[in-house]
Amino acid sequence: SLKQPIITLKNASTGYGIAQALWEITLELYPREIVALIGSNGAGKTTVLRVLSGVLPLWSGEYKINGEDVKGYTPPDLVNKGICHVPEGRQLFYGLSVEENLRMGAFALKKSRAEINERLEWIYNFFPEIAKRRNQLAGTLSGGEQQMVAIGRGLMGDPSILLIDELSLGLAPVIVDRIYETLQKIHREREITIMIVEQDMELALSVASRGYVLENGRISISGNSRDLINNEAIREAYLGV
Ligand code: ATP
Repeated sequence: SLKQPIITLKNASTGYGIAQALWEITLELYPREIVALIGSNGAGKTTVLRVLSGVLPLWSGEYKINGEDVKGYTPPDLVNKGICHVPEGRQLFYGLSVEENLRMGAFALKKSRAEINERLEWIYNFFPEIAKRRNQLAGTLSGGEQQMVAIGRGLMGDPSILLIDELSLGLAPVIVDRIYETLQKIHREREITIMIVEQDMELALSVASRGYVLENGRISISGNSRDLINNEAIREAYLGV
């Protein structure tokens, strides 16, 4: 039997003011997948994540989580449905310590002190770099360490769906590889569905099992990563070969 998608967007359109940014986007995420959303600057990738996290309302189309209509839900409603958006640029509280930032991720949850501490140690175990710096101010961390804190903060809320925007932005390739490896480890250990947004198609498809390509606010092609990476038109447009 076919599994039910955890997320369904169908013919979803939206924009900013009167400027339309997405045209009839249709995409699905199945439980436990890692899916890539790829596209050049301004293609609408961040806008899709804003729709999924409820920051930007749909003009038309459908949005469902586990088959339930969640169109019009607010960001807190969608957090309660298991969605966690790790935004581009990380947006940490720079004047707070690493650990205070991580604890913010569990702020709204009814979790015991012991449960929260256990979760902190679980995250530190995956990211020993930030464990060493738990009392250091977030603003004084390297870019890679900040990204680890941002992902860790998202994971503190125990999401079922993690949306990660441009993880690689401004980071050295070895750091990016290190963070994606850890994310894959976390993914193997937990029931978690992940959507990664990247401009770098080769990187995104090396991490994800499937991908959607956005062009000018429309999905131009989708498929499993191996087919996309071997697709002639895509190779010409995005990989320069
Ligand atoms: P990037 O990699 O540059 O973030 P992107 O693929 O994530 O690109 P979006 O940020 O989703 O693209 O932008 C899609 C379109 O919507 C662009 O034309 C952009 O100018 C516009 N846009 C994005 N955010 C806003 C906003 N807050 N107000 C008005 N227009 C916006």
